[in-house]
Amino acid sequence: MITLRNIVKNYDGKKESSRAVDGLDLVINKGEFVALLGPSGCGKTTTLMMLAGLLKPTSGEIYFGDRLVNHVEPKDRNIGMVFQSYALYPHLTVRDNIAFPLRERKMPKAQAYERAKEMSKIVQIDHLLDRKPSQLSGGQQQRVAMARALAKDPEILLLDEPMSNLDARLKLDVRDEIRKLQRELGVTTIIVTHDQEEALAISDRVAILNGGKIQQYAPPEELFSQPVNLFVASFLGNPPMNLIDGVVQEDKGVQAIVTSGFEFRIPEARKLEAKHIGKPVKLGIRPHDLMLTDGSDPNAIAMKVDLVEHLGSGKLVKVMDAEQKMQSTIRFVTDNEAPVRHGDTIQMKIREDKFHIFDMTEDGHNL
Ligand code: ATP
Repeated sequence: MITLRNIVKNYDGKKESSRAVDGLDLVINKGEFVALLGPSGCGKTTTLMMLAGLLKPTSGEIYFGDRLVNHVEPKDRNIGMVFQSYALYPHLTVRDNIAFPLRERKMPKAQAYERAKEMSKIVQIDHLLDRKPSQLSGGQQQRVAMARALAKDPEILLLDEPMSNLDARLKLDVRDEIRKLQRELGVTTIIVTHDQEEALAISDRVAILNGGKIQQYAPPEELFSQPVNLFVASFLGNPPMNLIDGVVQEDKGVQAIVTSGFEFRIPEARKLEAKHIGKPVKLGIRPHDLMLTDGSDPNAIAMKVDLVEHLGSGKLVKVMDAEQKMQSTIRFVTDNEAPVRHGDTIQMKIREDKFHIFDMTEDGHNL
């Protein structure tokens, strides 16, 4: 188990405003695959570097099991690391690259080569052992880097954007391979990525970072269906969640969110506390959670179709209120057969209970 407790990293001395990592708490279980995900500059790489021992935290503690490792050198941490650039030694063969960390640990050459061969079989590059990195494709270099990181049987594998140099198709294959290998070896793995699809696909849990702080740490499906705040809700999802400004109102015990384009009645089961009445909120609805209905539906919202885009697997429809009072369009996704054309007036509704209400008086937390 890895524990990060109240980790702060400040690159320039003591100024609070320049904290790259700002009070981070994270627990990663043995054998777990965890992604650190967030926008550029949110502190992902800094966190990974501190786990690797290549950077020291300004304050806070890092434990591997019950061992405090803040002052343990990288080579004594029992970690394997794969960088975005792979960082292979260009003058060494694949065999020597994989054997390198073992030779550093004074393993006899024959034994290190035997291990290199074994690892190269696992990642299916055993026919390339005599080549130099420059004679390999990007995907092959990536495998060499994986084999080298895993050769010394590390307890922890750290991956820093390991697939960003691969083309889209290869990325999918390599992603599946990494996940399979990780499961087989049971090695605790932490990946840094800014690719949300990759993070969600590959990980047991994802930590979403912003401004050096963890916003939410949860399994992918939970992040998606129960985002804790506006940041997580708007960061995840493609096309992104619709976020519509409104005010909570109550009339005869029935609550609604009144937006400039329509009124959304809040179901009884999701009624808000009285203190929210009259206050600004954002209504969040994912594009897949809106559907077509007909005018007789009591929850129908009439909208005008502004644009229809073909996604291949369906249509992305952008709609506006008929009087065009709303500040932005609402996006929703329908199947290809749906009779929706530019200029049509349609009736749509929100899928049962698939909406979020974010409190805009405070920090945008999900009500
Ligand atoms: P990216 O996805 O762009 O790599 P990241 O989430 O990995 O971003 P970090 O590289 O950890 O972000 O950087 C976090 C913050 O720390 C940024 O504001 C960055 O400018 C700053 N920073 C990173 N490295 C240094 C450094 N060596 N000296 C000073 N500031 C740094």
